[in-house]
Amino acid sequence: MNARRRSGGSDLDAVVVGSGPNGLAAAVTLARAGLRVRVYERADRPGGGAATRELTLPGFQHDVCSAVHPMAFESRFFREFGLRERVEFVTPEVSFAHPLDERHAGVAYRDLGRTAEALGPDAIAYAQLLRPLVERSTRVAEFTGSSLVRVPTDIPTALSFGLRALEQGSPAWNLRFRGDVAPAMLTGVAAHTILRQPSVAAAGAGLALTAYAHARGWPIPIGGSQAIIDAMVDDLQAHGGELVLDHEVTALEALPAATVTLLDVTPKALIRLAGDAMPAGYRRALQRFRYGDGVAKVDFALSEPVPWTHPELCRAGTVHVGGTRAEVADAENQVNRGRLPERPYVLVSQPSLFDSTRAPAGMHTLWTYTHVPAGSDVDRREAVTAQIERFAPGFRDTILATSSRTAREVERHNPNYPGGDIAAGAPDFLQLVGRPVLSADPWRTGIPGVYLASASAAPGPGVTGLPGWFAALSALRHQFGTRTLPDLSPRTAGTR
Ligand SMILES: Cc1cc2nc3c(=O)[nH]c(=O)nc-3n(C[C@H](O)[C@H](O)[C@H](O)COP(=O)(O)OP(=O)(O)OC[C@H]3O[C@@H](n4cnc5c(N)ncnc54)[C@H](O)[C@@H]3O)c2cc1C
Repeated sequence: MNARRRSGGSDLDAVVVGSGPNGLAAAVTLARAGLRVRVYERADRPGGGAATRELTLPGFQHDVCSAVHPMAFESRFFREFGLRERVEFVTPEVSFAHPLDERHAGVAYRDLGRTAEALGPDAIAYAQLLRPLVERSTRVAEFTGSSLVRVPTDIPTALSFGLRALEQGSPAWNLRFRGDVAPAMLTGVAAHTILRQPSVAAAGAGLALTAYAHARGWPIPIGGSQAIIDAMVDDLQAHGGELVLDHEVTALEALPAATVTLLDVTPKALIRLAGDAMPAGYRRALQRFRYGDGVAKVDFALSEPVPWTHPELCRAGTVHVGGTRAEVADAENQVNRGRLPERPYVLVSQPSLFDSTRAPAGMHTLWTYTHVPAGSDVDRREAVTAQIERFAPGFRDTILATSSRTAREVERHNPNYPGGDIAAGAPDFLQLVGRPVLSADPWRTGIPGVYLASASAAPGPGVTGLPGWFAALSALRHQFGTRTLPDLSPRTAGTR
């Protein structure tokens, strides 16, 4: 396929600003369509929210942002790209676990039946809630992984999903359960959204992620999230694309001429970059886009694995720390009201349990983050340590070194996370339907030839490549008149 039409005075067809997973998904798609593509990245290495670095001690490889990739096998873009064939993943048998006290924990196996069995009186209720979504997990991913403005192609799956999200996103969320464990597990996943609990958008995201946990699992890339980026950069370069690092773009007019410009930035940044080129109506719509609360990140180098009291936690790819559904909801709602909870909800992953490249022999890396009010400059190292210690007494004694980043520092590191908002815009119901604005083609901006290709555009946050892929397909359709999907498969890598 060759979509080239004109290059408007420069030898480029497409310029992409930002090399996060979405910027690179856009760039790869356009390069595979035969276009001449250049990517500008402000950082000294590509990757944005998918980067792996030595943050603590030599030999300890930490994921700076994303670590666990529920969408690696479910995202339509990654399936087209053949990510599984390009990057080695390990998929833990326990996708996530949720400790409640020294004896009780919810354990989400990559097997719904086994998970439900352990839930005693709630076994049937949990299985009935999840089974239709687990059995149709790929369709759930297709429905939630596109613009929600479109009529879903599989209405029964969308209905089944929607009704469950309405139930788990309402004050009636406990009605089907008798015990504490299943509700805590569901809220532990829904809380990934940093939204008020309960809420329909949080429940919807939580149910989709839980369905993937029981279907194909939550994979972890060997070598860290950077491996995903390296595969995308390799493909881009194999197809003639260029990557320019250490280059912050400050205005659209400073970019070289190209037929299309795709921006892996937030609406806030888009307004700044476009200046007067942006139509007033579109600017007002973007100004209404809301950013959510933030995260504070804490990474640890450990002398040994976390001494979880519950043995199954040592097999989990992700652990949700924060206690019962009521406790997690209370912590999240405090953040939502601008307060710092004393006992926060903490996301924890210990990738070195599954990937020996992450730490020197016998030692471990621990990735954690917790939610904080937008723009917080409070170091949450101690609060996170105390919460883990609650379910893993002796944890403190295993700590060799710590690296901590406040929400403000998260934004300083990457402007796509305003105030530490790692979703690049609150993923609430209205902003999932209209992301960043209500439109059947939300990747098109009010400026001809300019497309929004970041997590601030539909279908939203996570390492999925989907907003970038959709933005590139929209650009190919409108600017180059092509409706054919470029072949992204690794089997054609290197051909041009
Ligand atoms: C702490 C943390 C934990 C997370 N955990 C997970 C997880 O476990 N799983 C998951 O799926 N997702 C996770 N995420 C979210 C995920 O990382 C993001 O949703 C995803 O990276 C968004 O991709 P993107 O390409 O839209 O933006 P980004 O990955 O943020 O990339 C944007 C890129 O654009 C560059 N850029 C911005 N402005 C300019 C400019 N003017 N000029 C040049 N370059 C520019 C930035 O430097 C950056 O490299 C996490 C995020 C964080 C911060």
